[in-house]
Amino acid sequence: MILKTYVEGPIDANNYLLIDEDSKEAVLIDCSAARPELIEEIKNLGVKLKYILLTHGHFDHILGVEKFKEVFGIDAYVSEDDIPQVKATPDMIQMFTGLKVPQITGIDKFVKDGDEFTIGNTKIKALTTPGHTEGGMCYLVEDKLFSGDTLFQRSVGRTDFPGGSFEKLSKSIKEKLFLLPEDIEVYPGHGPKTSIGFEKKYNEIL
Ligand SMILES: [Zn+2]
Repeated sequence: MILKTYVEGPIDANNYLLIDEDSKEAVLIDCSAARPELIEEIKNLGVKLKYILLTHGHFDHILGVEKFKEVFGIDAYVSEDDIPQVKATPDMIQMFTGLKVPQITGIDKFVKDGDEFTIGNTKIKALTTPGHTEGGMCYLVEDKLFSGDTLFQRSVGRTDFPGGSFEKLSKSIKEKLFLLPEDIEVYPGHGPKTSIGFEKKYNEIL
């Protein structure tokens, strides 16, 4: 599997492109911007982008979805519990950046706990991890976990937005993510990568 990281959007979210080497099928985890250069780059990789999987519905992870759907003719999946977050995008982006954007539509496929997706023979497993948002999801692919804004390197996602709960976040991490093998690499929605073992040892917020 090939992994490419793109730091995109108004508050530098990590978008991850995973490519199955044999089939050249690919998935994009979070889609924060639709920069023409980024779209061109992905097109030039010669991969078949199969879907967009969203870790949650916050504006800084979804702003590129409509354009990507249009260009690549694919669906974008989010937890149904995060539709309120998707709908809040115009308000949130105005609050954070002062920009005005229209309502984001077209995120209409839903992912739930335990769902499996494939790119070629590579399996992607969805895990629900509420707390940062009610519909927060992580995606486990081989030895890599894409943790969205649930777990960061030595930090966790904030829980003071609507739908956030520190209690739930802490439970999601301790009772779900921390049961994964310690050598699982963790690729968060913002900032550098980490691992389950490292966070069990050094994450002081939990
Ligand atoms: Zn977020």
